[in-house]
Amino acid sequence: MDFTLSDVQELTRTMVREFAERELAPIAAEIDQNHRFPIETLPKLAENNLFGIPFPEEWGGAGLDYVSYAIAIEEISRVCATTSIIVETHTSLALEAIFNYGSDEQKRDYVADLASGRKLASFALTEPMAGTDAAMQESTAILKDGEYILNGSKVFITDGNYSDVFVVFAKTNPDPALGTRGISAFIVEAGLPGFTAGEGERKMGLRAANTSTLMFSDVRLPADALLGKEGEGFKIAMSVLDAGRVGIAAQAVGIAQGALDAAVKYAKERVQFGKPIGNLQAIQWMLADMSTDLEAARLLTYKAAHLQDLGKRFSVEAAHAKLFAGQMASRVAGMAIQIHGGNGFTESYPVERAYRDAKITEIYEGTNEVQRMVISRALLR
Ligand SMILES: Cc1cc2nc3c(=O)[nH]c(=O)nc-3n(C[C@H](O)[C@H](O)[C@H](O)COP(=O)(O)OP(=O)(O)OC[C@H]3O[C@@H](n4cnc5c(N)ncnc54)[C@H](O)[C@@H]3O)c2cc1C
Repeated sequence: MDFTLSDVQELTRTMVREFAERELAPIAAEIDQNHRFPIETLPKLAENNLFGIPFPEEWGGAGLDYVSYAIAIEEISRVCATTSIIVETHTSLALEAIFNYGSDEQKRDYVADLASGRKLASFALTEPMAGTDAAMQESTAILKDGEYILNGSKVFITDGNYSDVFVVFAKTNPDPALGTRGISAFIVEAGLPGFTAGEGERKMGLRAANTSTLMFSDVRLPADALLGKEGEGFKIAMSVLDAGRVGIAAQAVGIAQGALDAAVKYAKERVQFGKPIGNLQAIQWMLADMSTDLEAARLLTYKAAHLQDLGKRFSVEAAHAKLFAGQMASRVAGMAIQIHGGNGFTESYPVERAYRDAKITEIYEGTNEVQRMVISRALLR
């Protein structure tokens, strides 16, 4: 792999960093403290073509590669992780599923609207009894008189109260002998009779992001709402989650970079024993370890994104990147608080938000334990 970024990739970083500093930085702490979904940011993300970065221009996307997309997620996360999960779930999970598995008609109906940011999309897999064990879906979509009747519920759905379009997984055939082949994927539009969303969760991190329960009660879906073939839902979910894991690794890298930048600034400014604390070797070594950890995670992330660009298999590399980057972000944000001393423990400095936001990158889109399962299975195969 060539470790030099292309001009376009460098330009993406510059442009997204400027956007994040201008539009996201001024509100990031406020939306977090008030648990307020940043609805005003959505048109700005759309204007800057940030909702469909790795999708072709003719489909409304920015026509960039997945490495550029990872860089963009990193730069948004460096300033506001809440905003990055809005972009990430929409792009890496929902849009990726529709773009890769949609019929020509479905792509025509949805991709341009989603990639251009005119509409927002969610990915609804998790259920009360189907978390890590995603195959334990209890939602059903039973074909009757040419329509699928969807019943069940989903939990923890990012943007559940705000999305226009949902990729929803449900059992089309409850025969236990079929296992995961009984699960199918559907494109479900908000506002259909019988489809409701509960209130957003109050969370320790990503506090401004919307995470809600979805309820389906006899929701009637046209037969052409089926995404891919009947029985392909689990395969679609797993393949899309590979892409998602690269996005979450990039999010972790960005959160950690924000924490490191804040720690360096503080180390130069804070004076103890008559000198900036950055003069102390204890602080210097922490900064050096943070930077090394961060750079390793960044390279794993770009490697997985690069394989994605080449159209090669990248499941294991995505798991490496997400496992390492998630844990790294928690470590680096913790050290950034240590460098800030008591100030780091207050809401007056951005590192306590980074510390709270980092934790989720070890949990969603496959916990650390799931990533270890993916990696070890490949080793022992
Ligand atoms: C903020 C947020 C946003 C989210 N967004 C979405 C979304 O948009 N769409 C969506 O579908 N889901 C979403 N999720 C759900 C998320 O993906 C799940 O929470 C995650 O997959 C873990 O599932 P669980 O919470 O049920 O934990 P559980 O599966 O109950 O796991 C609990 C613990 O047991 C461990 N464990 C479970 N099984 C095993 C095993 N076989 N071996 C070893 N350890 C194991 C887990 O690693 C974990 O440590 C979101 C969650 C949060 C908190």
